[in-house]
Order: sequence, then structure tokens, then C-alpha cells
Amino acid sequence: MTLRQDPDAAPALDYPLLGDLPLARTGVDRGCERRIDDAWLPSLMHDDGTRVLLLVKGRAPVHDGALVLVGPADVPSGTRLVYLGRSSGQEIVLADLDEAPDPAPGDADWLGLRDVAAGLSGHDAGLFVEAVAIANWHANHTHCPRCGSPTRAVQSGWVRVCPQDESQHFPRTDPAIIVAITDAEDRLLLGANAQWGGRRYSTLAGFVEPGESLEEAVVREVGEEAGIRVHSTRYAGSQPWPFPCSLMLGFTAVAESTAVVPDGEEIIDLRWFTREELSRDILEGTIGVPSGVSISSALIEHWYGGPLPEPRQMEN
Ligand SMILES: [Zn+2]
Repeated sequence: MTLRQDPDAAPALDYPLLGDLPLARTGVDRGCERRIDDAWLPSLMHDDGTRVLLLVKGRAPVHDGALVLVGPADVPSGTRLVYLGRSSGQEIVLADLDEAPDPAPGDADWLGLRDVAAGLSGHDAGLFVEAVAIANWHANHTHCPRCGSPTRAVQSGWVRVCPQDESQHFPRTDPAIIVAITDAEDRLLLGANAQWGGRRYSTLAGFVEPGESLEEAVVREVGEEAGIRVHSTRYAGSQPWPFPCSLMLGFTAVAESTAVVPDGEEIIDLRWFTREELSRDILEGTIGVPSGVSISSALIEHWYGGPLPEPRQMEN
């Protein structure tokens, strides 16, 4: 998938093999030097020029393919706030609400990141990803891991502090590798996950373990899930996957042998696909493949040489 960089967004990055991925587009200047001042966020909420992104259970108001931002006056008191950054001279704050205000601002619909990311500008997609990721961290890290006391947010929502032992806790991101494996005939290995009823085929993936390099994680995960060894591991690109807090690191690799054995628990079937076989099976509806916003889809399409046929999802 090729997405145009938003001309208003932060400086273009040098993207590796996969190009700029839907959830990896830069949006705002996060202003790390500004947010450490605990007076910064309250001052923004007294400035009518501040723009606020409302979030309700991971959904944001979207209208005509763009996020609808509101002013500080539209934010109920006591709402969880996080400073998201500066864009085009405007300061942007996240307000994470428990319930959607009725009516929604600006005729918007409350939509999820996965549903709309590909159609948003790079600026809005970056803002939405940042908002969902930091909101998930706060929701899942309310207590001190050392002593169990409730922690409170400081530094404009980017650190939590324990009032008992004064330990600081920083937002967490879990790295996970995902890998497109080919064989000597340039066939692609895809696995059917038990979670998805066994007919949705995807690239192999897994979390990086403590004390492990990314390259070692690729070799270990492929060994565990498919029973083969791979070589020529090559980094292909990354994107955040804040459901709830992953960072997906994409690789390509080449299999030493084709005698794959699914682990039987996470992966219940493995198949080597030619391009013709993959295209035919998607069109006939006998298999599903990942959605366009995922890095798995980008890895598969990079191998395939262009967009996969639609529709990719099977009816349940
Ligand atoms: Zn503590």
C-alpha cells in the first residue's frame, strides 16, 4: 500500500521496504520539552485556541474523512487529559471520556482507528494512533507495579507517579515481530490462526521476549509456530498497533526447508502460496487475509507485487 505523506505533517522519514504504513504516519510535534511542565496542560485548557480530540473507548468523532476536534469548553470537568502535541501552530489535547457526548460534535460519527485510518490524512492518522495508544496505557496502568497504590498522571499525561514510593512509570509499548517467509520458489508461507476459525491466513508474528534481539525473535517464533529455520532476515518496516499497546516490526526471511509443521495451538494450518493460488483462494472466498491497515497486509502485498483482490474478509 502506498499512502501519500501529508504535506502539513512533520518531516518525511526514510521508510524501508514497506513504505509509509497507514498507522505509521507522523502527525504532530509532540513537544516533549513542553509537556514536562505540569502547568502546561492546565494552561492549555484555559486557552480557547486549544483543539481537543475526544476519545470514547477507542473511538473518535470523524466527519468527511477527518477528525472533528472541539474547544476546551466542550470538555466535561474531571476528564482524563493528555497533551498530544502541536500542529500548524495549534496545541492539541486528548480528552478520554467514558461516555460519548450527545449529540456528537460536528455531525460526526464515532469511529474506530482500524476502520478509518487508511482514509485519514497522515496528520489525523498520526494523532488518532497517538491518542489511542496513550489512552490504552492509562486505562491499563492505574496502579503502581511495586506497591499496588493508585498512581496519578503527571507531565501532561506522559508519566504516572506513585504517591507512596515516588516511583515513576512511563508509557509502555510491546515490540512484536511479524515476518513474511518465502521459499526457494518464491512462494509465501501463511498461517491460519486458531483465533480466526482457521480460514484466515496471515504472516507469522509474535512478541519479542525479554533479553532477545528482534532477529532472534524472528527465528524463535518461526521455529515455534512452523517448525522450520529461516535465514536472510531483513527489516522491512514498522508501525504501532495500539490494540492495546504493540509495536509491529516487519521482516522478510527465507526458509531453509518447506516441511512446515503448525504448532497446533496458535497456528492450526500452514500453507505455501504462489501468487496465483493466493489470488484465486481470496476471490473464491475459501480463505480470508488481513485487512489493509495491518502490517501483515503490507508484507503480503509487497511480496504479491500490488494490491490483493477484494473482498479479503470472509463472511462468518
Ligand atoms: Zn508504589
